[in-house]
Amino acid sequence: MSKNQLTLDTPLQFVKGVGPKLGEILKKSSLLTVGDMIHRLPRAYQDNRRLTDFNNLTPDQQVIVQADVVKKNIIPLRGRNRKIYEILVSDGSKTIPCKFFTLPYKNWFNSLRVGEKVELRGKVTLFRNRFTFNHPQIFPANSEEEIKSQDLVLPLYSEIEPLTQYKIRSIIREIFNHLSLSDQDLEWLPPWLIKKYNLTSRLKALKGAHFPDRKKIDDYLNFKTEFQKRLIFDEFFELQFYFALKNQGWKIGTAPQISINEKYIEEIKKTLPFDLTLAQKKALKEIFSDLQSSHPMHRLLQGDVGCGKTVVALLSALACAKAGYQTAIMVPTEILAEQHYKNASHFLEPFGVKVEKLTGKMKSSQKRTVMGVLQSGFCQVCIGTHALIQENVQFHKLAFVVIDEQHRFGAHQRALLKSKGAYPHFLVMTATPIPRTLSMAIYGDLDVSVIDEMPKGRIPIMTRRAFPKKRKEVFDFVKQQVEKGRQAYVVYPLVEESEKLDLKNARDQYEKLKAYYTDLKWGLLTGRMNPEEKQDTMSRFVKGEIQILVSTTVIEVGVDVPNASVMVIENAERFGLSQMHQLRGRVGRGPYKSYCIVVLGERFSKESSERAYIMQNTLNGFKIAEKDLEIRGPGEFLGSRQSGLPSFKIAHIIRDSDSLSLAKKSAFDLVSQDPYLQKLEHQKIKDKFKELSLSIRPG
Ligand code: ADP
Ligand code: MG
Repeated sequence: MSKNQLTLDTPLQFVKGVGPKLGEILKKSSLLTVGDMIHRLPRAYQDNRRLTDFNNLTPDQQVIVQADVVKKNIIPLRGRNRKIYEILVSDGSKTIPCKFFTLPYKNWFNSLRVGEKVELRGKVTLFRNRFTFNHPQIFPANSEEEIKSQDLVLPLYSEIEPLTQYKIRSIIREIFNHLSLSDQDLEWLPPWLIKKYNLTSRLKALKGAHFPDRKKIDDYLNFKTEFQKRLIFDEFFELQFYFALKNQGWKIGTAPQISINEKYIEEIKKTLPFDLTLAQKKALKEIFSDLQSSHPMHRLLQGDVGCGKTVVALLSALACAKAGYQTAIMVPTEILAEQHYKNASHFLEPFGVKVEKLTGKMKSSQKRTVMGVLQSGFCQVCIGTHALIQENVQFHKLAFVVIDEQHRFGAHQRALLKSKGAYPHFLVMTATPIPRTLSMAIYGDLDVSVIDEMPKGRIPIMTRRAFPKKRKEVFDFVKQQVEKGRQAYVVYPLVEESEKLDLKNARDQYEKLKAYYTDLKWGLLTGRMNPEEKQDTMSRFVKGEIQILVSTTVIEVGVDVPNASVMVIENAERFGLSQMHQLRGRVGRGPYKSYCIVVLGERFSKESSERAYIMQNTLNGFKIAEKDLEIRGPGEFLGSRQSGLPSFKIAHIIRDSDSLSLAKKSAFDLVSQDPYLQKLEHQKIKDKFKELSLSIRPG
């Protein structure tokens, strides 16, 4: 090998143009070797055909513009410890402000010079009749060299401090000019798989991604070149392979085999006040078949709000209890625990199943009593909040773990609850319909049952979008419904102190509405209230002592009051589609015609008005979820609380959903053909997954 040849392991400092000093700095970004660097894939491509002129801007459109920095301002936010960083840019004719609420990194703002030419990519919005960029991506504009080479398409990399895009590109170019590497050095997938799916070699794919070909510019922009496809496949495959191994691992554990007395269960079903829907029956059948097996169940039960997941879980718990085993059901809030507890004890105790409740807010003496009966096995079903996963909670014979409203819990909490039994059967339930692609990416290791049918006789909820002018009419309508004997919810978004001027908040509006409609009985429920107050308010609402409940989103999950027939969502522009759909699911639970009114606030945008319109026209939770995912992207859709979503370098679960399905299928196929990765051609994969595959041994 000649002296200036590079391999994957060569430290970066030996690349021409890097050197020891920069090499040291790059370590902070986890870039140690040549291999690290070439795996930093471009996250986008710059299309130099499409620079937009300042005079051709339209609101809410993604654009690329080039302009000079003319001024920098730091604007303190009143009453808060935060600032807005503003940069004014001009193309000679017009000046446009760019606003940053947080900075990509500390020195970035300072190092930007007035007079510097920059390139901005992002959405321009119209704010107070003026075009504004909020958080655009901002790059140094093409340097002289690049303009000369007339690259129509350029790779764009994520920030690597302190490198400019130009410098990143030149380092990458230098590396590939001197890299001594064969296809085999980078390959990790077996030949049969590469052949079957006609994949480009990894080496070619990396080169192709870093050095886009101007003839294929549109394919590059859409991530549809063979190079990008290969890299995307690899990312998905890696994740799915991990799921496949985990899934395999679970199947190896031994769970209690629950023998189910079908006749008995049929008798029980007859005592229900309704017939199960076909979808409920199907889900129940799938769950029973898992419970009867000695492989631990790992199942996700998905179904729109109100489809009746609870009864499915309770019948399964009953079957376990009859076989002499315990069930733990974990829910996210005290309110929900109370409601489920009532429900479950009412349903199960007549059949001799003892039900208990364990929540954080109970007195410690009460908790001790409950823990006692759990440990002795005297109680067969326990419903609880996070209190259930405390260390000192022990079960006698825990066989079945149910997690309700799963999106509220993190993976860690799920694991803790599972650890209470050796290998319990495990069911997670969610009312947030998750589009298939997303659930493949997050729950790829779970089997899925879907309840896609609503109980018969439900009257569809009528939904209407209301513009701010119509608020009075909305509340007059609420009043009219209440006078007919119904109850209503009015929900407000959570509001931060500093935003008070613009937005309505639950407490203020409660006071105002109560003062205006004096003959109605109002109640208030917010997250700030203490648990006793909340409980008290909720139970007065359940009893009908409160007719209209004003609240923040605390009522979002699971609450069931059949007499409530109106849901008013205020400042709807602040809610995501799925969240509104969840809220809507609080009504329409009884025999009455129900209504959901989505009221826009004074400053609604076109997009939020469209969202409200989607609500008006779509009742199907899965359709709404898909739209929501499309509009907000996966991260936002899931909320920051439970990201759970693996981060991909270039793969995108919506854009590349075909590739995701393919990767899933091939990963699971591979594991089922060669569960212990014993074949020679699977050696490289095995190495990559060393830790996991070691725990999965034959026999
Ligand atoms: P979710 O799936 O949102 O948790 P629940 O389990 O709370 O829904 O059920 C909503 C309501 O529907 C409950 O009052 C429940 O008793 C009722 N229900 C469940 N299944 C049926 C059915 N097959 N027919 C009629 N009502 C049902
Ligand atoms: Mg529920």
